Amino acid sequence: MPELKREDWFDLGRRLDWTPEYVSREELFPGFASDASNLPAAAWEQWDEPYKVSYREYVDIQRQKDEGLYGVKTAVGRAKYVEGADPRWRAIIKEHYGVASVAEYFAGLSEAKLARFAPSASWRTVATLGMLDEIRHGQLQLFFPHSYVKLDDQFDWAHKMYHTNEWGTIAARSLFSDLFLAGSAVDAAIAETFVFETAFTNLQFLGMASDALKAGDVEFSSLLQSIQTDEARHSQQGAAVIEVLRKHDPDHAQYVVDKSVWRTWKVFALLTGMGMDYYLPLEHRVHSFKEFMEEMVLDQFSKYMLDTGLDLPWYWDQLLDEVDNFHHSMHLGSWTYRPTLWWDPAAGVSPEEREWLATKYPKWEQTWGPKWDVITENVRAGREDLSLPATLPVTCNLCHLPITVWSDPAPRLRVVRTGGRAYRFCSEPCQWIFEQEPEKYRGHDSLVDRFVAGQIQPPNLDGALAYMGITPAVAGKDALDYAWARTA
Ligand code: MN
Ligand code: MN
Repeated sequence: MPELKREDWFDLGRRLDWTPEYVSREELFPGFASDASNLPAAAWEQWDEPYKVSYREYVDIQRQKDEGLYGVKTAVGRAKYVEGADPRWRAIIKEHYGVASVAEYFAGLSEAKLARFAPSASWRTVATLGMLDEIRHGQLQLFFPHSYVKLDDQFDWAHKMYHTNEWGTIAARSLFSDLFLAGSAVDAAIAETFVFETAFTNLQFLGMASDALKAGDVEFSSLLQSIQTDEARHSQQGAAVIEVLRKHDPDHAQYVVDKSVWRTWKVFALLTGMGMDYYLPLEHRVHSFKEFMEEMVLDQFSKYMLDTGLDLPWYWDQLLDEVDNFHHSMHLGSWTYRPTLWWDPAAGVSPEEREWLATKYPKWEQTWGPKWDVITENVRAGREDLSLPATLPVTCNLCHLPITVWSDPAPRLRVVRTGGRAYRFCSEPCQWIFEQEPEKYRGHDSLVDRFVAGQIQPPNLDGALAYMGITPAVAGKDALDYAWARTA
């Protein structure tokens, strides 16, 4: 067999394309699935990825990665780490597995769309490998927690979560449907690979892998690192798309980025913010969530945006205010609503922890302290029942998370009346996103809409838990059984 040198065939292989004769290019790559800006084929020929990998190289590398990772799993399995792990660390990994595992399959579906409908041949080649990556991530993150289901029913939510109507699930499913699945290949590449992966989760995976090592969880750390090396490669697609769009349709690139940053931020704050600032044992904490956001996410993201000639999102100041507050609000709310979670959240507000929070967030005591004081007093008095929820919160018709306030005076609830009903929003950017494409968003009922429509029976917390798929064995409890309230 003749052996060609890599450089002699590589470009031909990755750019294999032809002019269709039996159908038009518009039929082959319809705008709704491919590129709503309808740029000419020549514009997309400029699309270029920085890391070039052939299929043969890909298979070889991936096989080695899987071999290494399954080797770690087998070795660690004998040590039974998770059984003896700190319950606060277990909360972090259960939340992660629930939100991430099946979402990797969503990412795989999205990459499959790019592999078929991306308007550039070399991009379709990269997306094919990205699709295989995401299938691997889904499989790994279902297989690893599966071995813990026999110890603890909450690990079953790695698979179950997206099949339920749990409140956080409704929010996460709406996010991934919008950013990964509903749009064109061009929009999905910007939303998923540039915003979600490059700006947010790549760095989070690295940070979490290092936290996992500190917590002694070698298996989880190796898992995240193995996944992250794939993400670092295929997430390059989005920046390459922005390079093309900024020359031909910069307004569209700006719109998709602005929408995706806000929507990703909302779920990211719950997934990462609560774990970093409240669940992770104090002795393992290095950065606060705010420091991580400012130094790793916002700083790098804003440099990139300005370098490519795009603007920062118009709501930048509101985002900075949220970085200071939003996850504290979600933590207070989700801890209070702990029976609706599939993990046991740590309160994280012992005297030493509050001291740490106050150094990282100078207004923490003023804003959140009094609320936790009341909870702490009730728990000390043996009245844990008073710290549990009595009703449902109002949720946002865009991000589907509870509507909360932290500033004084509180901003008015944002209401839009259209199509014969009112829609409520937690923030100006959520309202703005809704108003850009109301026909896309208005048919999606929030948890409260469903409650009012009589879908939740009986109409109380027990009915809501049943509607959310939460069984008594799963319903979240305080991770440390209130030990934090009894110190000091
Ligand atoms: Mn992935
Ligand atoms: Mn990915």
